[in-house]
Amino acid sequence: MYELIIVGAGPAGLTAGLYAGRYGLSTLILEKAVVGGQIILSEKIENFPGFPAGIETNALIEKMRKQVENVGVKILMQEVVKIEFDNTLKKVFSPEEVFFAKAVIVASGASARNLGVKGEDKFIGRGISYCATCDGPLFKNKEICVVGGGDRALEEAIFLSRYAKKVYIIHRRSEFRGSHILEEEAKRSKKINFVLDSVVEEIMGEDRVSTVKIKNVKTHASTSLNCEGVFIFVGIQPNTTFLKTTLNLDKDGFIITDENLKTSAEGIFAAGDCRAAILRQVVTACGDGAIAAHSAHQYIAPYK
Ligand code: NAP
Repeated sequence: MYELIIVGAGPAGLTAGLYAGRYGLSTLILEKAVVGGQIILSEKIENFPGFPAGIETNALIEKMRKQVENVGVKILMQEVVKIEFDNTLKKVFSPEEVFFAKAVIVASGASARNLGVKGEDKFIGRGISYCATCDGPLFKNKEICVVGGGDRALEEAIFLSRYAKKVYIIHRRSEFRGSHILEEEAKRSKKINFVLDSVVEEIMGEDRVSTVKIKNVKTHASTSLNCEGVFIFVGIQPNTTFLKTTLNLDKDGFIITDENLKTSAEGIFAAGDCRAAILRQVVTACGDGAIAAHSAHQYIAPYK
């Protein structure tokens, strides 16, 4: 029996663990895949305060992990598949075990969204990627496309331009959702080309990607781009399917909370990218983790 179980070891879960440990709560973090969550798919983070030159994402996460372990919080690699609750008792199920706690913080994060076009399933791992850090070096001196117009598309296009001969950013509008500073940096790159007001209709090839069929949404003209890689960064979907019958979710599956990060179930809190919010950054995930741990601490206090 733990006082607190945290689901997920991304920045939100690790910060919640740090605060919970410092409040003296017996705390377990359960993580299904990898400590750090989806931010470790990016090589570097430039907008986390305190690091004027940016910091390698792995280095930042390693510091967070050590800090959590220093306050006595254990991280166990197991996937949470279900949460049940009965007044103050919360049951957290993995395929192997059931864990018990007085309170739970869900910080299960989000995953890359698929583009949903013809050819996408066929060429995953054969030219299509959702991770520039993992696969970028494979495209040295090749022509590649990046799809999307948010922070990730811009960040990763800049990163990929280190390796690729040419990078096309294909975005469905002419304005970018991502930050101005990244847009300007991408525009300064001689290797990055913009294909705006355009959507991908199909990704084609024999064994591997060779061509992307694009349609201009204003002129309706269709064209083809020869490229050997397609990196897709068109947003995220929350990792909340295991909670569908447990908590109130919004129409996209993000967990609805109040400002203290309480969910619809008493004693269950949510933090980070899995939560309905206006901004999803590492720094806001950390802020969420701190608030959720504070709320969980207040909730647990009468039952101590
Ligand atoms: P995002 O900000 O939601 O942007 C998604 C982009 O993909 C948008 O430009 C969107 O176009 C486009 N898009 C969505 N569906 C599409 C479709 N079917 N076809 C073509 N284009 C489509 O997502 P993201 O850039 O992947 O970033 C995910 C989250 O991580 C965001 O909340 C972001 O702020 C955050 N992030 C944080 C950091 C950090 O903390 N340092 C770094 C990177 C990312 P429209 O603009 O037209 O909607």
